[in-house]
Amino acid sequence: MTRSHDFRPRIISRRSMLLTSAAAAGTAALGGLAAPAQAETSLANAPYPTIRNRSAWNARAPRSTPQTVPGAPTYIVVHHTATANQTDYSLARAYSLSRGIQNWHMDNNGWIDSGQQFTISRGGHIMEGRAGSLLAVDRGYHLVGTHVANYNGVAVGIENEGTYTSVGPTSALWSSLIQTCAWLCYFYNRPTSAIIGHRDLNSTQCPGDQLYSLLPILRSDVANYLANHSLSLPATGLTGSEVPPYPQVPANEPLRAYEHGPALGEDDLNADLG
Ligand SMILES: [Zn+2]
Repeated sequence: MTRSHDFRPRIISRRSMLLTSAAAAGTAALGGLAAPAQAETSLANAPYPTIRNRSAWNARAPRSTPQTVPGAPTYIVVHHTATANQTDYSLARAYSLSRGIQNWHMDNNGWIDSGQQFTISRGGHIMEGRAGSLLAVDRGYHLVGTHVANYNGVAVGIENEGTYTSVGPTSALWSSLIQTCAWLCYFYNRPTSAIIGHRDLNSTQCPGDQLYSLLPILRSDVANYLANHSLSLPATGLTGSEVPPYPQVPANEPLRAYEHGPALGEDDLNADLG
């Protein structure tokens, strides 16, 4: 398996990240935005994984601007894409995956853009999904996506390439998922218990029995990853209305690429379908 040299997480300040992203994008995605002055010191040890922005994978423009919500989302939701567990771990394949998901969401589902905020390929490449997702995390607000019905206003979603009903993810994907969750938990100041599966909120098998069974280990690995950077998270878990409903998992859910359970509900804040 080949991995690009810049896959490794970079420990850089928020300001550095913005400048790097703007330079890499060469577009207006993050260009011209100044980071808050306090970020350089307070986030000096923040683990910031390499995340490919939308310019990198040649995303289409969204049809409209998604809604935003002040403050952090309650949940960090782990999905699988319900696509094949293919063995092309290249960056080119990762970009193709992002384009495929976006095309499906916009052309088949009629949404304004990619539904999820972030995507991780089987090669471990992390990509921005919905337009504005990187900036939202950096600034500490929630950009509403479409990936978990009736909870989109309080949940940021990570789509992991593959189908994990009977096998687990690649080590590269797993490592990137740890880093992505650590970054989200830290920047949003959420406890590791905020990391849940799609099935915890909606009636679906997503993210598959195997990946779902790994979530306790993921939470532990995220905590250890941050501890190794001398960072910590809130110790309190989800309480009260934050506790997921844990609906019954359907026994015979049909598998279809890019479809992994209810993604849009009548209680959602977003206006993806106009
Ligand atoms: Zn899902």
